[in-house]
Amino acid sequence: MQPTGNLHIGNYLGALRNWVRIQSHYESIFCIVDLHAITEYQDPTELRQRIREVAALYVAAGIDPVQSPIFVQSAVSGHAELSWMLTCVTQLGWLQRMTQYKAKTENREAIGSGLLQYPVLMAADILLYQAAVVPVGEDQSQHLELTRDIVQRFNSLYGETFVMPATALPSVGARVMGLDDPTRKMSKSVDSAGHAIWLLDDLKTAHKKVMRATTDSNPAVDFEQMGEGVANLLSIYQAFTECSTETLHAEFAGMRYGDLKKRVAEAVVAGLEPIQQRYRDITADPAEVDRLLDAGANRVRPIAEATVQLAKERMGLYRHGS
Ligand code: AMP
Repeated sequence: MQPTGNLHIGNYLGALRNWVRIQSHYESIFCIVDLHAITEYQDPTELRQRIREVAALYVAAGIDPVQSPIFVQSAVSGHAELSWMLTCVTQLGWLQRMTQYKAKTENREAIGSGLLQYPVLMAADILLYQAAVVPVGEDQSQHLELTRDIVQRFNSLYGETFVMPATALPSVGARVMGLDDPTRKMSKSVDSAGHAIWLLDDLKTAHKKVMRATTDSNPAVDFEQMGEGVANLLSIYQAFTECSTETLHAEFAGMRYGDLKKRVAEAVVAGLEPIQQRYRDITADPAEVDRLLDAGANRVRPIAEATVQLAKERMGLYRHGS
């Protein structure tokens, strides 16, 4: 995750919660990508603060830092190093086609070249650890495809070097939409009060945001013809409660929107409460987060260094290999 703002329920349902599950099935590594964050200007003091906040939220959401290392991208130099090597096998056209790049640069004149390179750095994040599976929200699928293209190109030019990573998408919650405008993905960068529910929102505020969410002109839930706002609320409910689609239909068909919102708001509050409690516990000792991030970086650095060394050897860089 980028430490560019507070995390919202889209980050939680689309990614973080699945990471928590995945750590008992796979040997997992979790990163806070501050080098990605600086593709847009960040206030340095705020960025430092956000990095710690996001790390604490990872743990609060259930990632066990003893089992799975959590670290900050810029603390492991291999990310930037491998990213350059991968840039050199990446075609410009591949990057220009990325929909996230197009969306972020639309109607803008001064565009930092980091925004274009962003997916190559992401490929480095994945390939440095020879990751077999990458659990992300739907918005990152295209970047994962690009990573696969980069692997194919690198391996065919220099010989088998990187593991081909697979994408793991969640079955529900893969794309949480804005509460104020359900045609837009819930995003950290939208600056409107009713848009996102933040994981650290006061519970009353979170409740209120759901009650004010945009629906449509129907009076009650009709699964046959439903606006995007109602579909989004139902999907948030299903993701938080993990109920089956049959249960969802049985419970909500014909329910008036006021009652639907109350049920969704209760589910959101019940989901956020334990996360916020754990967050308060972890941040009670401010040095604790730094300690766990340092320990995480120390654990992953040797893996990253071995991959950088291998890539250098494969590419024939000076004095690497025979
Ligand atoms: P970012 O906010 O770009 O740092 O994304 C961090 C992770 O959260 C990625 O895996 C995204 O796919 C996921 N994510 C971000 N926004 C949403 C959303 N609205 N719905 C579901 N997943 C999301």
